[in-house]
Amino acid sequence: MIRLHVAADLIAGSAIQATEGQAHYAGGVMRRTVGDAVRLFNGRDGEWIARIAALSRGKAIFAVETPLRPQAADADLWLMFAVLKRDGTDMVVQKATELGVSALLPVFTERTNAGRVNTARLQAIAIEAAEQSERLTVPAIHPPRDLHDELVVWPPARTLFVALERAEAPPLGPFAGPAGLLTGPEGGFGSRDLAVLDACAFVRPVSLGPRILRAETAAIAGLALLQAPGWG
Ligand code: SAH
Repeated sequence: MIRLHVAADLIAGSAIQATEGQAHYAGGVMRRTVGDAVRLFNGRDGEWIARIAALSRGKAIFAVETPLRPQAADADLWLMFAVLKRDGTDMVVQKATELGVSALLPVFTERTNAGRVNTARLQAIAIEAAEQSERLTVPAIHPPRDLHDELVVWPPARTLFVALERAEAPPLGPFAGPAGLLTGPEGGFGSRDLAVLDACAFVRPVSLGPRILRAETAAIAGLALLQAPGWG
């Protein structure tokens, strides 16, 4: 069954206007018609069964019917990641959403060689991944900042695990409680990055094993390790 994220409140009997993209997806791509059921969530009201009440070119109305799942708390896990080339950043956002992160914090580091970040595009990728992975929330995407500026506002009670290759760091393992993971860019962290990280009391350097992983792989593996074996 089609599963879509909506902005509107989900209340039995309410009618929700689909976005143009959702109408096209339901009608044009998935070939649904009036009367077919869809599942809706908005990050606040759990998941609901709704029916397509109207559908025409680029327009659809969903009639909200019955609750399917109540809203539940998500894992409290943030991913701070050095912005990568476009495909790499897209992959990190998609996979991190599938792996349950609650916030995504793109940062510019000493060796970041990607200029712009399209936050709206990343938000769309996160929404699609949340729909697909049956999440009840969409992770927050923070505006990109320099690593240093993000560390200054980092909540001190939240442990930040920093993935460091070629370092004598302990292996990353499961962690319960508010945490974050930081992964570096394609070229790794620079000496100035490492100096600011070293000055933060909440930072814990960790290893992801003996091989040098691509930045995307490091984010995926790290998020899985932090949450195993008790998925939140
Ligand atoms: N070009 C660098 C490697 C960068 S890997 C070099 O050759 O040294 C990109 C990012 O992935 C790193 O900044 C780090 O955060 C993470 N990473 C890759 N392999 C890792 C490992 N074995 N342990 C911990 N972090 C790793």
